[in-house]
Amino acid sequence: MATTIPPARRVGMVSLGCPKALVDSERILTKLRADGYAMSADYDGADVVLVNTCGFLDSAKEESLAAIGEAIAENGRVIVTGCMGNEAQVIRDRFPEVLAITGAQQYEAVVEAVHEAAPPTQGPFVDLIPQQDVKLTPRHYSYLKISEGCNHACAFCIIPQLRGKLASRRIDAVLREAEKLVAAGTQELLVISQDTSAYGVDVRHEERLWKGHPVRTHMTDLARELGQLRTAEGRAPWVRLHYVYPYPHVDAVIPLMAEGLITPYLDIPFQHASPAVLRAMKRPANEAKVLERLKAWRAICPDIAIRSSFVVGFPGETEADFQYLLDWLDEAQLDRVGAFRFEPVDGATANALPDPVPEAVKEERYARIMEKTEAISAAKLAAKVGRTIPVIVDEVGEPDEDCDIGATGRSQADAPEIDGSVFLRDVPAALQPGTIVDVVVEDADAHDLYGALA
Ligand code: SF4
Repeated sequence: MATTIPPARRVGMVSLGCPKALVDSERILTKLRADGYAMSADYDGADVVLVNTCGFLDSAKEESLAAIGEAIAENGRVIVTGCMGNEAQVIRDRFPEVLAITGAQQYEAVVEAVHEAAPPTQGPFVDLIPQQDVKLTPRHYSYLKISEGCNHACAFCIIPQLRGKLASRRIDAVLREAEKLVAAGTQELLVISQDTSAYGVDVRHEERLWKGHPVRTHMTDLARELGQLRTAEGRAPWVRLHYVYPYPHVDAVIPLMAEGLITPYLDIPFQHASPAVLRAMKRPANEAKVLERLKAWRAICPDIAIRSSFVVGFPGETEADFQYLLDWLDEAQLDRVGAFRFEPVDGATANALPDPVPEAVKEERYARIMEKTEAISAAKLAAKVGRTIPVIVDEVGEPDEDCDIGATGRSQADAPEIDGSVFLRDVPAALQPGTIVDVVVEDADAHDLYGALA
């Protein structure tokens, strides 16, 4: 007798916010798939839509509310999760028809809400669904989240309130996940957390066994072991370290970069340079010797790319503080910089600080920092013209009227979504995203490079 397989319930997902939220979305979808749900790429085909929100800045909250509104209008059956879930009343007031609201990292609660809203199909075949992880990034790069939460109390930030204290994942579990991702085709691992340098502090850097030898729950052990992974082609995958604070032990990963085991790239959110502003911001690893360390790192690994972000117009920032920052940037010669105008965040202690900077002054300082960092970036990229560099291909285009095909990729100095691109001309149609190719750089502007296959 033939058995009819009941169709699986379908879940749609709208994922907003930072890479950490994207990893949460992947984890929720992985669990739902294991429970027998299928994914829906559009609103129409979904039995229920999950909106993973970001609630950090007011602008992100508005974007989250707009996404919830759209999902309700298009589908009607909506569950809200993520950082903005901690403000359930604001969501309920605006959208009383939302089925359930859960907060950040409440994986079980959100999965339970989906079970209630669209009970999973019962059938003998559900157990046969492969237990493969769901990825929302392209196959060739993956975020690797090593911890949740943060032990600091930066004045402008509410992450510790939203996500709690630092909770590090077991290092053997992180390494196993990395190994699986690389075996499944990942060419680039992006290590993320709120404070990567603090990895393992909460568990006193406990040791675990990995491949027969002990490894500590520590950023340097993690970097060393990730540097041992090999792709199917026998290459070390690119490994990028994000959200690294310049604690002394960061020095130990620079030789790994020089040896080609870890990608020569460090994302260090400095946020400012003036000691007075850093003190007011209550920033971790706020010490004076950073410029000397940058110099020492570059002596060991000349190709290291440093990316950072800065806040201008923090309460109490004087013209002298801001000028100090500009002069510091001249010295630091950072490769990639993101700048933000200070914006009060509900619940942040910075809101109570005296001497707010007028909006017009914030705008003017923002324009000046952008001008400075663009000039530094343009000069650094211009120096790459004529060199041959490895580039990972993200996308291959369609042939134009002359049958030429272009592709977009990234150098080792470019993380996906936040940094620049390398635009390639005249690539073969068979070139696949995820391939790492040698490229001769032919031209550059303030953010991007242009070139052709070597
Ligand atoms: S280090 Fe500071 S800015 Fe980063 S998550 Fe922790 S409190 Fe927020």
